Parts: sequence; structure tokens; C-alpha cells
Amino acid sequence: MSDRILAAVMAAPHQPIEIREFPAPDLAPGSALLRTERSEVCGTDVHLWHGRLAGVPYPIIPGHVSAGRLQAIRGPLHGLDGSTLREGDRVAFFDVHRTCGRCRACTVHRTPTRCTARRVYGITDSANEGLFGGWSQGIYLEPGVGIAPLPDSVGFDDYIGGGCGLLTAVHILERAALRPADSVLVQGTGAVGLSAIALARLSGASTVIAVGAPEDRLQMARRMGADHVFDVTSSTPEQRMADVRALTHGEGVDVVLEAAGSAAAIEEGLDLVRDGGRYVIAGHYTDAGDSSINAHRQINRKHLEIRGCWGSEPGHFLRALTFLERYAAVVPWREIGGRTYPLTGLNEALADAEAMRITKALVDPWAAA
Ligand SMILES: [Zn+2]
Ligand SMILES: [Zn+2]
Repeated sequence: MSDRILAAVMAAPHQPIEIREFPAPDLAPGSALLRTERSEVCGTDVHLWHGRLAGVPYPIIPGHVSAGRLQAIRGPLHGLDGSTLREGDRVAFFDVHRTCGRCRACTVHRTPTRCTARRVYGITDSANEGLFGGWSQGIYLEPGVGIAPLPDSVGFDDYIGGGCGLLTAVHILERAALRPADSVLVQGTGAVGLSAIALARLSGASTVIAVGAPEDRLQMARRMGADHVFDVTSSTPEQRMADVRALTHGEGVDVVLEAAGSAAAIEEGLDLVRDGGRYVIAGHYTDAGDSSINAHRQINRKHLEIRGCWGSEPGHFLRALTFLERYAAVVPWREIGGRTYPLTGLNEALADAEAMRITKALVDPWAAA
């Protein structure tokens, strides 16, 4: 890498992505410069482009989950797994940084994803501060960032194909407290939902049902481990309810995992879960509006457990890598990445992601335009 590093910058919502040149960062003790091999365009980037997330310090270099090779290290550097990291190593890093470890969220409530000091590469870090996003040939891994070696068997495309959706799905499954042979219904067949399907299957679910669209994502849902799929655009909630009941002794599923991000999904999910079941809501990363709920019928009388799921922690990142090491050869995570774009192709990538032509765009910042 030369002293000049190219990055794709989102200057403001609704503006075309532009290529800018950055100087190589000065490395503080305990930091590193990553040569980016792959990053991604996910649903969050589309939200960022639409200006739907509060408190984003534009201009930003998007791309919150990325992987590459350690180009330069200053001082001893250790991975989250305890390993000693060396220049040239293939690594991924946990995008959330500066979680304080001292506030009430971090210490008293033990909910570090609600720490107000936490920042996220590619989302809440300004490009004015430097290389804090993955749509760039280089990423500054500041001191304290959680880094882990990519297992030899995990390619960059495997890791980014899973990407942020896989990390989120690990957290969702943790929140779901799945029991052996639980029946699971996943709402949404985007990157998060597809990984949740795979992890539910691998975690011992008996029946996995997916509700989503379009058709190519439903086919992918089957390949990720779904036994039954419903096209949300061509079936009615009443039909889905009848079919799900028929599959579950007339009761509804033990666990519903929401990764759809629509207000209507919540209203339906509460009906699809059985009495005494669990419902994890993870798809409402932005405000999708109000849902109409009957608390008596859908929650109280049902003795239902509802859990939110926000962000992820370093442990979810490491578990995602472990899942990939063991299962990337048999679960087609890499195929969630529909197409790989150069830095100059990111306007097209955002348009493709917005129109749902691809589930996820991969970014190769070294590819020729
Ligand atoms: Zn904190
Ligand atoms: Zn993402």
C-alpha cells in the first residue's frame, strides 16, 4: 500500500458516493493498519444513504464489517482469541469500539451494546477523523479494537458473505435461548434472517420455517436450512397462520425470530408463536412505525416472552468465526454475497441493494473499475 489510500466516502445522505484520497494514518501504540480485502454493503448502508439513522457524523466511510491483512502493526498486538498478531496475518475485526466498560449500561445492567460511548466503524465514525470504514483500501484499527485471526479454512468471501448479519444472528440465537428440538420461525430472508435460519438449524431446531421474499431469497433460505418457506408477497397472514399451525400440532412455533423490519411482521409474529413461547425482535434497526398489538390476546394471556436484541458483542464476533470455521464448507454463507463491486461501483451497489436485486454486495477496494 502506498502512502495514499483510496476510500469511498458518503458525504451526506442522498449524495452520490465519491472517491477520496487519504494519507496513511500515524499508528498510535497498540494500533494497526489493515489492508482491506473485503467489505460489504448491507441494509444499514442503505439506511445511512437514506439518512434514516440518527447521529451519524457525515461524511463517513461506510462499510462496518470488513476483513483483510495486517499491513503494519505498532507494538505488540494480540487477538481477542489470545493469539499474537503479526504483519501479514489475515484478520477480521469487531466493528464496535470504545465501549467504555465503566458506565451503568456496561457495569450495572451488563448491556454493553447500550453503552452511549460505543462507536461503530463505518456508521458512527466520521471520515474527518480518518480511515474508520471498510469502503477503503486501508482501515485504521485504533488501540483497543477487537481483532481476531481468520481461520485458515475461512475465506474473505465466506466471512463477509455472513458479515454483520451473521454476527447479529449469533446474538439473536443467544437471546432466543433455543432448546433442543424447538420449532423456529424466522421472519425475513435478508442477510440477518438467512444467517438466523442457518444458526437455528445448526443449534438443534426441529423445524425451521422462513417467511420472506423475493423468490431467490426463499430458495437461499432453503439452502441455509429452512424446511418450509412462505412468500410474504403471495400468501396472506391467515394462510400462513393456518399452515404454521398445521406444522406445529395446532399450537404455533416455539420461537419466532424477527428479522424483517416491518411493523406488520410484529403483529403477525405474535400470532405465529405458541402460548408460552419466545419472540426475539431484531429487525427494527430503524423506526419502521407502530405496530398494532392486542396485549390481552397476543401477550398477556399467551404468557409470551418478548425480547429485543440490539447490536452485538465481541463474543458474538468470535462465535461467528467459530461457526464459519466449522460450517462454511457446508452452509453457503459466501453466496449471500451476490456480487463484488469496486470502490467506483458503490453507487450501483447501493441501488442494487435498495432494489433487493442482491441480498448483499461485497466490496473489493482493490478491484479495477
Ligand atoms: Zn459503557
Ligand atoms: Zn451491516
